[in-house]
Amino acid sequence: GDEALIALDTVSERATSFFYPNVRLGVTGLSRAGKSVFISALVHNLIHGGRMPLFEPAHNNRISKAYLEPQPDDGVPRFAYEKHIEDLIKNQIWPESTRAVSQLRLTIEYETASGWGRFFSRNKLHLDIVDYPGEWLLDLPLLRKDFATFSRESIARAKSEKRTEIASEFLSLADKLESNTEADETAVRELSDSFKTYLANCRKDELALSTLPPGRFLMPGDMEGSPALTFAPLTNVTDHAEPGSIQAMMERRYEAYKTLVVKPFFREHITRLDRQIVLIDAMQAINAGPDAVADLERALVEIMSCFRPGAGNLLTSLWQRRIDKILVAATKADHLHHESHDRLEAVVDRLVKNVTISAGFANASIETVAMAAVRATKEATIDDGGEKLPVVVGIPAKGERIGDEIFDGIRQTAVFPGDLPDDPEALFRMESMPQQRFVRFKPPKVERTAEGITLSLPHIRLDKALQFLLGDRLQ
Ligand code: GDP
Repeated sequence: GDEALIALDTVSERATSFFYPNVRLGVTGLSRAGKSVFISALVHNLIHGGRMPLFEPAHNNRISKAYLEPQPDDGVPRFAYEKHIEDLIKNQIWPESTRAVSQLRLTIEYETASGWGRFFSRNKLHLDIVDYPGEWLLDLPLLRKDFATFSRESIARAKSEKRTEIASEFLSLADKLESNTEADETAVRELSDSFKTYLANCRKDELALSTLPPGRFLMPGDMEGSPALTFAPLTNVTDHAEPGSIQAMMERRYEAYKTLVVKPFFREHITRLDRQIVLIDAMQAINAGPDAVADLERALVEIMSCFRPGAGNLLTSLWQRRIDKILVAATKADHLHHESHDRLEAVVDRLVKNVTISAGFANASIETVAMAAVRATKEATIDDGGEKLPVVVGIPAKGERIGDEIFDGIRQTAVFPGDLPDDPEALFRMESMPQQRFVRFKPPKVERTAEGITLSLPHIRLDKALQFLLGDRLQ
């Protein structure tokens, strides 16, 4: 297999005909966490030699070139890199978000670090990036649960204090459906649609909840509309479904969901990863308050547990590879002044604390970072009635209120992002965080050199993320 690393001569030409090692990097996170933006920025910066002082191989000019090549898996859609870059740079709009699995192979040619400048020894690494919705990972615990358990848990969650209002329509519809009445396609579909609407509403900004299985109900991928994706929990499940009843129909579909959707996804994609980055939108949760923060923590624990080698026991096939590095990254740090970046990192540390404590990660190192894959803002100080306020400045995205400030001769909006607390624990306690004014900014204008070469996208600490994920594989 491609694991076989051929010992390379110092004569680089010979080596080109051999297999080169690859790293399969999983990129995940709940919807809108920033996966598409992250992958686009990572690839663009590597191809265009972006400024990455914290990424050692780039800093020491050891990367001779990086380019896209056909991906190894012919059956997986390709990540729409060119389209995304056109959106980001030419159209100055954010690219389309991740909706399903996609893949991209970036080949990196580099000089090995051990050459010491005497014998330059060249090498190549294939970086296979696998982009997929984090929602789908939250399905792993379902494999352990039968339909009755899934139903009881889902209904209990829907009736919890924070959700009951949003869930009321779904709950009253579910109450009307006797689980032992005759199976009826229309009734099942109606309840399923109503359940999906409730889950989607839980994701919205005011609640910003994260743990909402089944994952495909929020991110259906290519199986949208199929029976395996058309079921719902019932309020009055029994331990034994009557044959031909509504419950029997739901049960059958729930089992099909596990067999046809969840298991193949884990087997074909997750068990083959070497490294993983989990993106989180911590600020969205912070803005929604302590419940959302606690829920994000719960989701992270579940997401991370999918990468434990033992998690593979739930599946029919064994883990093929072992993930040895996981990076949990808070994105969109460009919404904060740099003074708060370390505090945001502390928030991420706090969120993964319970994951790292729990056993099973002995062989993987887990790190955290606060970053912006694409930096859309600049920093400034404004005078607020004699008080100096640190602000971030950017061009508001379409639909956002246009500000009245002029910076660098352009009409822009200055936002005082507010301070994150020193102690992240406060985010779990406070009634609500001091509301941050959250403005969506347009992607930055990317400069061109006099020769017309497009410079790479600006970022915050993307290089630090790359150093952790790839630095050791480019030695
Ligand atoms: P996905 O659903 O995980 O693929 O999320 P996207 O990559 O599509 O990102 C969702 C949205 O978050 C984008 O449309 C941007 O508005 C915003 N976003 C993502 N990354 C960044 C970033 O680094 N900086 C800023 N300012 N916004 C970002």
